[in-house]
Amino acid sequence: MHIRRMGGAEVTVVSSESPYFFSRTALMYVFMGHMTLRHTEPYAREMWDEWGITRVQDEAVSLDIHRREVLLGSGSRLSYDNLILATGSRPRRLDVTGENSDGVHTLYFRQDLEQIEATIGRNMKHAVIIGGGLLGAELAEMLRSRGLFVSMIVREKHYWGNVLPPEESKIIETRLSRYGVRLFLEESVISFLEDEGGHVSMVNTSSGLQLPCEMACVAIGVIPETALAAGTDIQVGTGFLVNSHFETTSKGIYAIGDCAERLDPAPGRPATESMWYTGRRMGECVARTICGQRISCDDGVWFNSARFFDLEYSAYGKVSAGGEHSLFWSDDCHERCLRIQRGEGDVVSGIHALGIRLRQEVCERWIGSRMCVNRVVEELQQARFDAEFSEHVFPSVIQSFRHQLAR
Ligand SMILES: Cc1cc2nc3c(=O)[nH]c(=O)nc-3n(C[C@H](O)[C@H](O)[C@H](O)COP(=O)(O)OP(=O)(O)OC[C@H]3O[C@@H](n4cnc5c(N)ncnc54)[C@H](O)[C@@H]3O)c2cc1C
Repeated sequence: MHIRRMGGAEVTVVSSESPYFFSRTALMYVFMGHMTLRHTEPYAREMWDEWGITRVQDEAVSLDIHRREVLLGSGSRLSYDNLILATGSRPRRLDVTGENSDGVHTLYFRQDLEQIEATIGRNMKHAVIIGGGLLGAELAEMLRSRGLFVSMIVREKHYWGNVLPPEESKIIETRLSRYGVRLFLEESVISFLEDEGGHVSMVNTSSGLQLPCEMACVAIGVIPETALAAGTDIQVGTGFLVNSHFETTSKGIYAIGDCAERLDPAPGRPATESMWYTGRRMGECVARTICGQRISCDDGVWFNSARFFDLEYSAYGKVSAGGEHSLFWSDDCHERCLRIQRGEGDVVSGIHALGIRLRQEVCERWIGSRMCVNRVVEELQQARFDAEFSEHVFPSVIQSFRHQLAR
């Protein structure tokens, strides 16, 4: 869309998954009946023709970089001047016995949703989710919404332990169990057993736990999809290696989104980011570069948001998973919390909010301008989003933070 907006070249989008672009972040709401798949399409279908963007539903099976052609599964070839690889990710596998049994699923593609529906159609009762992150929590909510008994196996000591400090994890763990999810921490799956029909019947863990089930969902992260690099000079690390203009090592070929691995990530940012917002930003940057306004991408302040059932989570900038060097407040019932990360020079470097909504632009301004933590605390009311719900919360938060700063 950015290329077309800048009056640039003809654009052809090849995707095997779906004829129309949809938002995979909303797949859970399709499953729960809150919206249809069609509702997840951000743009009207007519728009693609109006904008002169050709869509091809097919698989790109290989690249002929000398002839500048993409070879499609149907046997046809598409020629290009510039090629943008935006092949996304695929789910990470456990690589344990029984992982290919019927009823063992992942959630990434819309076809995964169809397969999960088919398994549920077998009138099943017990599901096991492997992985304690955002996707694991989404799956838990999805499956609980259909009345299934849900167990979750998490390798870490506490929920989403590689990202969250223990206090935030505890709040989420309490919320999951309130919604009927049985959580098993510090457990790893060693195998899946299947019945005579080849259908999953049990999950075995490292400590000897045996969880009977008719469905298992593996949600242990994603890896960049880089199969198209085969037979080309495109270098791959974890993803397609790209410079700050998203150029790969092969002339005229770019990579953006989940599949790209930055050679020069911004300080404190990972080289690959499986984030919707990051991908969208990269798309705009690469379009400008291709259309002659060669710019480097402004990575902005890291932002993520999610829900753990009815508990809202948002993260701005970076918060240490250990929780050290931070100001922390939680209410008496441990249902919501706020954390401000103190970076070098006592400037704010990250903010976590659970159960409290903050104004994104305010938080990003504080972090982006490296505002001193003292001042952030004094101006905290500016970040209040839902005034009527958080009216009584902020004075208590500010008082607590002032107290911690004075220590
Ligand atoms: C269930 C779920 C919930 C999520 N929620 C959030 C969220 O709340 N916030 C957030 O920031 N991120 C979220 N993410 C991550 C986010 O969806 C991804 O970061 C984003 O979709 C990446 O966009 P992309 O265009 O790089 O790749 P993708 O969205 O993966 O798109 C790549 C497309 O290319 C197709 N493709 C790949 N190879 C080929 C080929 N050879 N030929 C043809 N087509 C091919 C794939 O089938 C796919 O359709 C979520 C992801 C999932 C799975």
